[in-house]
Amino acid sequence: MSNLLEKTVIDVHHWTESLFTLKLTRDPGFRFENGQFAMIGLMVDGRPLMRAYSMVSANYEDHLEFLSIKVPGGPLTSRLQHVQPGDTILVNKKTTGTLVLPNLLPGRRLWLLATGTGLAPFLAIVKDPEVYDRFDQVVLVHGCRHVRDLVYEDFIRDHLPANEFFGEQARHKLVYYPTVTREDFRNQGRITELVRSGKLFADLGLPHFTPEDDRVMICGNPHMMDELALYLDDLGFDQGSHAGAGHYVIEKAFAEK
Ligand SMILES: Cc1cc2nc3c(=O)[nH]c(=O)nc-3n(C[C@H](O)[C@H](O)[C@H](O)COP(=O)(O)OP(=O)(O)OC[C@H]3O[C@@H](n4cnc5c(N)ncnc54)[C@H](O)[C@@H]3O)c2cc1C
Repeated sequence: MSNLLEKTVIDVHHWTESLFTLKLTRDPGFRFENGQFAMIGLMVDGRPLMRAYSMVSANYEDHLEFLSIKVPGGPLTSRLQHVQPGDTILVNKKTTGTLVLPNLLPGRRLWLLATGTGLAPFLAIVKDPEVYDRFDQVVLVHGCRHVRDLVYEDFIRDHLPANEFFGEQARHKLVYYPTVTREDFRNQGRITELVRSGKLFADLGLPHFTPEDDRVMICGNPHMMDELALYLDDLGFDQGSHAGAGHYVIEKAFAEK
């Protein structure tokens, strides 16, 4: 149990029947880089049941925040979705992950491409003042099935630009492109299709990806991630990791069984 911290639930917000946000107390000793994930969980039958979760809260915030799916019958989330303020959550203090700024080479434009809960690590990144110092533009693309799944839309649109420290930079540099696949909306289609067809770039009035100018972080369902990684490889992009910075980095938003 030495790496496991016991943290208290401060708030639970249910966005939809399948998505919720948890806010927890934070231990001053819990350190991480924006974009990383940790293992969190509950004691079940006397043993910790832990799953990987990306931090939504930035590393300078005094609470911890996580965005969670509710998987029907899922060992952890069928329990986690019922927690209430005051309950205890286990958080492993070892954090890791590839979606961190040092894993990217310098560039002009940062693309954050997320599907579903893959948005979570990018919420920490768009709250990081360093991202606006390092890039001329930051484009956050969030793909979901339904409009109701576009969680944190108000936060991205209204709160970030009003931030007292980096709001002005966010107003000038952050571009948000939500898209859905299963109902009418101003932006429609899968991220992979929007990239391949060029519609994403045409809609935003931005040039197509080039290894010279663009840096890409991808987090989402494993199929879209694999497809986009191959696509970027064909364009001459190199994948970055802790072993060496590259033009793009990827992380699965969940493991398929
Ligand atoms: C690096 C990493 C980071 C992760 N970050 C998050 C996060 O920030 N938020 C989050 O909700 N989950 C995240 N996950 C998934 C998370 O670890 C669990 O799988 C999820 O909480 C479900 O747990 P479970 O025990 O209920 O079901 P599991 O037995 O873990 O999963 C059952 C099945 O549900 C599906 N599934 C699991 N998670 C998701 C998801 N997020 N979106 C869509 N389908 C899913 C998959 O098909 C999976 O095989 C992450 C996974 C990895 C590998």
